[in-house]
Amino acid sequence: MQKSILIELTKTPKTKPDQNNLGFGHYFSDHMFIMNYSTEKGWYDPRIIPYAPLELEPSTMVFHYGQIIFEGLKAYRTEDGRVLLFRPDKNMERINRSNERLCIPPFDPGFGVEAIKTIVSVDKEWVPDQEGTSLYIRPFIIPTDPYLGVRPSNTYQFIIILCPVGAYYPEGINPVKIYVETRYVRAVKGGVGYAKTPGNYAASLKAQVEANQKGFTQVLWLDGVEKKYVEEVGTMNVFFKIKGEVITPSLEDSILAGITRDSALQLLKTWGVPIRERKISIQEIYDAHSQGTLEEAFGTGTAAVISPIGELSWDGRRISINQGEIGKVSAELYRTITGIQKGVLKDDPGWTVEVK
Ligand SMILES: *Cc1c(COP(=O)(O)O)cnc(C)c1O
Repeated sequence: MQKSILIELTKTPKTKPDQNNLGFGHYFSDHMFIMNYSTEKGWYDPRIIPYAPLELEPSTMVFHYGQIIFEGLKAYRTEDGRVLLFRPDKNMERINRSNERLCIPPFDPGFGVEAIKTIVSVDKEWVPDQEGTSLYIRPFIIPTDPYLGVRPSNTYQFIIILCPVGAYYPEGINPVKIYVETRYVRAVKGGVGYAKTPGNYAASLKAQVEANQKGFTQVLWLDGVEKKYVEEVGTMNVFFKIKGEVITPSLEDSILAGITRDSALQLLKTWGVPIRERKISIQEIYDAHSQGTLEEAFGTGTAAVISPIGELSWDGRRISINQGEIGKVSAELYRTITGIQKGVLKDDPGWTVEVK
């Protein structure tokens, strides 16, 4: 693989958006990273160019068969003005697991981290500094053969775009109401659930819309066969604290291996909190609630970091968790992970990577 990244700077830098109204996913920085793949050349031509529309024929495979993968991570501004990435090596390793499932050729994860560091360095001024803000990084790979027919593409583009985002909880971290989905499923055994691929999101939209209409923030996904075991919550991994023990579903191939999930498990282990990765049924959670032993529930993911669950609704039965308040373990995980990300707490696990 060619290692030197060509950089072409924009001649027309954009005005930066107001940091108080960033929201999520609205604004994009001045540049983007692109690298091509062909069967003959492998991955080639890594370059940073001004952010601009892509020109693709309507027949391009990306528009037809969903052979796409993506990633999501963030760059954070520290109080002393440095820029930190959080475990970017993990995202780049996960790309290869997604690639393998989608028949996309593998790439060098170390070079992927280099690409992220370079593009973030070029657009460093786009990393916002206000409380709760960050620069969301979206790497993705699209198939680019102009061809109609179901087979893996022979050519691809690996692209990285950057998006300054606002605080996920502008009004403070509040527990959410979750609808336990019993009709639709997100992923099935043998499918693509463990890959970060857009099809999983397309499959989840209808349940999400219907849950929102009923007044819930997200859905809790059950397994695709028996609709009995808990898998994920929205686009997050899920944890339950029952009788002092923290339980999260073990990684089946229908569950995405979240990096925040892994970080939470590592922290809990160092704190001496008992953890279990195992199958857990929705019935067991309801039973624990009626016995008074369901202490906390929360989701984990890059966007929100920790999202406490205040209420579940399953088959018309609503339960409130920890009186709808954020639990101690959830709060401590949130404080520690965001503290390490922002350089406020000492990075004992060695998770952050500075962008120079
Ligand atoms: C990205 C994602 C997550 C969270 O992963 P993180 O690495 O923690 O951001 C969880 N579930 C699904 C389905 C996802 O796509």
